[in-house]
Amino acid sequence: MSSPQNRLAEVRERISLAARRSGRQACDITLVAVSKRVTVLSLQETIAAGQGVFGENYLQEAAEKIAALPAVTWHFIGGLQSNKARQVAELFQVVETVDRIKIAQALENQLVALEKSLQVYVQVNIGREGQKSGVLPEHVEALVAGIKACPHLVLAGLMAMPPYHPDPEASRPFFRQMKGLADDLLRRGVVSRPLGLSMGMSADFEIAIEEGATVVRVGTALFGERV
Ligand SMILES: *Cc1c(COP(=O)(O)O)cnc(C)c1O
Repeated sequence: MSSPQNRLAEVRERISLAARRSGRQACDITLVAVSKRVTVLSLQETIAAGQGVFGENYLQEAAEKIAALPAVTWHFIGGLQSNKARQVAELFQVVETVDRIKIAQALENQLVALEKSLQVYVQVNIGREGQKSGVLPEHVEALVAGIKACPHLVLAGLMAMPPYHPDPEASRPFFRQMKGLADDLLRRGVVSRPLGLSMGMSADFEIAIEEGATVVRVGTALFGERV
């Protein structure tokens, strides 16, 4: 099994090559190391190798790691409920899973008290899957408007997880739709700056970058299979 350093170097190299294929550079892409079920010890090795951005799905697990490793940037990428807004607002710098106005407002209310701002991504259910979280593409604009009305929320972009398929190429049309959605919001003046796009995981991050991802969320390729 290769070392955490080697795996990180390998993922970074693949990001760099995919970025160049899309006319960009490695520094245009943010690698979020998805560290669910990864120990603080392994995280320390990955931090020592130069990784500074991590993503967590579960609050309790995240709270312990963030307390132990406060100097890196933490993205919340898990399912979000209003009653968790306080903890999420306190612990994280970025929340990628805002998918309804109620959540945006709950975060805003907490942030006022904390005197803190938070970068957020709107999670889009791009595959229109019944059980999946995320707002449907036709409802993104209304949610964006709601977020813009929250002074402590900074809209960083859109996030999506395409439907699972064993062939990563199957994700490509969904990534392309996400790029189209973001471009359309800019063209119509719904947003004033290009939106970031958080899309692509271990199996398909290169394809996501080719289609315009600015953020990739990679767990297994960095830390091995989760048990
Ligand atoms: C677990 C997870 C990832 C990382 O998945 P890998 O296939 O292990 O790279 C990315 N995004 C979200 C939202 C996740 O829950």
